[in-house]
Amino acid sequence: MATASTTSTFDVLRIREDFPILNRKVNGQPLVYFDNAATSQTPQQVIDVIVDYYSNYNANIHRGVHALSQEATDAYEQARIKLQKHFNIPQAYQTLFTSGTTHGINIVASGFSEILKAGDEIIVSALEHHSNIVPWQMLCEKTGAVLKVIPMTDSGELDMNAFDALLSAQTKLVFVNHVSNALGTVNPIEEIIAKTHQVGGAVLVDGAQASPHIKADVQALDVDFYVVSGHKMCGPTGVGMLYGKEAWLEKLPPYQGGGEMIDQVTFEKTTYAGLPHKFEAGTPNICGGIAFGAAIDYMNAIGFDAIAAYEHELLVYATQQLLEIEDLRIYGESKDKTAVISFNVGSIHPYDIGTILDKLGVAVRTGHHCAQPIMDFYKIPGTVRASFSFYNTKEEIDVFVAAVKKAVSMLG
Ligand SMILES: *Cc1c(COP(=O)(O)O)cnc(C)c1O
Repeated sequence: MATASTTSTFDVLRIREDFPILNRKVNGQPLVYFDNAATSQTPQQVIDVIVDYYSNYNANIHRGVHALSQEATDAYEQARIKLQKHFNIPQAYQTLFTSGTTHGINIVASGFSEILKAGDEIIVSALEHHSNIVPWQMLCEKTGAVLKVIPMTDSGELDMNAFDALLSAQTKLVFVNHVSNALGTVNPIEEIIAKTHQVGGAVLVDGAQASPHIKADVQALDVDFYVVSGHKMCGPTGVGMLYGKEAWLEKLPPYQGGGEMIDQVTFEKTTYAGLPHKFEAGTPNICGGIAFGAAIDYMNAIGFDAIAAYEHELLVYATQQLLEIEDLRIYGESKDKTAVISFNVGSIHPYDIGTILDKLGVAVRTGHHCAQPIMDFYKIPGTVRASFSFYNTKEEIDVFVAAVKKAVSMLG
C-alpha cells in the first residue's frame, strides 16, 4: 500500500492555515472536507474582505455621490477587472456579474427565446448538470426548437463521433460543461467550439466545475459564452460571472427589468443602459462581487498550474487506494479528469456509505449530483462522490479510505 507523504513542492500545510473551517471537528472527528465540487471553502483573506466591506464601506453603487458609494463602486468595478483579466476577456463590460452559473445560463437561454425559431436545434451533452438541461427544455417548449443530446460512453466521456453526426445547419446553440461535476471528465471543448462554429452555431460553456482547477482563456477558446460561480472558486455563494462575445451581448435582450439596467424611463418607452448594466438589473451582490475578486487573487497567488499538479497527485493517490477495495467501481475513467472520484461498492447504497463517512468526520456527496441522466446511463441510483481541492492532503485521503473500508465492513 502507498504511504502518505505531503509533497515537498506544494506547501499544503501553510495553505491550510488560511482556511479556519479546516480546524473544526464534525461528530468529534477532525473535518475531512471532500465535497469541494459542491462548494469550496473560503480562505481568511476572502473572509477579511467581506468583513471589511460591511464594517467600512457598505453602500449602494453606481448612483451615490457620497464617499462610501464611490468606494463601493470602485471596489466592485475593480473586482470586475480582476475577473476580466483572469479569464482574458477583451473588455470589462463583457464581464457580467450574475448570482451564479444557473443565473448566467438562464440569461442566455431566455435571450435565445427571442432568436430561435421552430425547427432550430440546440445540442446539449449527456454529462450535464440539471441547471443545464432544464432551461434548454423550457426554451425548446417556448420556441419549437429541438433538443439533441451528445451521448456518453462507458468511460464517462462524450461520444464525439455522435456529436459530429448531430451537427448541421440547423444547429444554433451548443451547450456543454467544461468539466462534468458528477464524474470530473474534462470535455474537449476546443473541438466542440471549432466544429460548432463551422456550421454557424454558438457555444455556451458551463465552467462552474472547471474554474477551480483550470484557468480558461475565453479568447483562445473562441467561446461565445462562459459562465462560472464564485462559490466553487473560494469565493462566497450568490455571485458568479457570465462572459459573452460583444456581438451576442448586444443582440440578446435584457433578462430582467429594474433599476441599474435602464437609460431613460418614461411611461411610453424605456431605453436600456449599455453593457454590462443591461444585464445587471437591481442592486447586485456588491460584497459578493468584491469578495469574488479577492478569491481570484488568492487562487492566482497560489497558481493554477501548481493547483492542478497537486490535485492530480491527490487524485492518483486516492484512486490507487480505493481500487484496492473489493467490488469498488469508479465511474468516469477519462484520462483527462479533475480530482473527482465517483464510486460505488457492490450493491451498497451510496447514501449508507455517506452517512457512515459523516459519522467519521468525512464530508462527501452522495446521490445523483444533479446529473440524473448520467446515473440512468449507468443504471445506478447515485454514487458516492469525493472531490478534492488544493487544501486537502494525502493524510486526509488515508482517513477517508479507512472510513470507506469501515463502512463496507459494516454494510457489506
Ligand atoms: C455547481 C454547478 C452548477 C450550478 O452552479 P450554481 O452555483 O448552483 O448556479 C452548474 N454546473 C456545474 C457543472 C456545476 O458544477
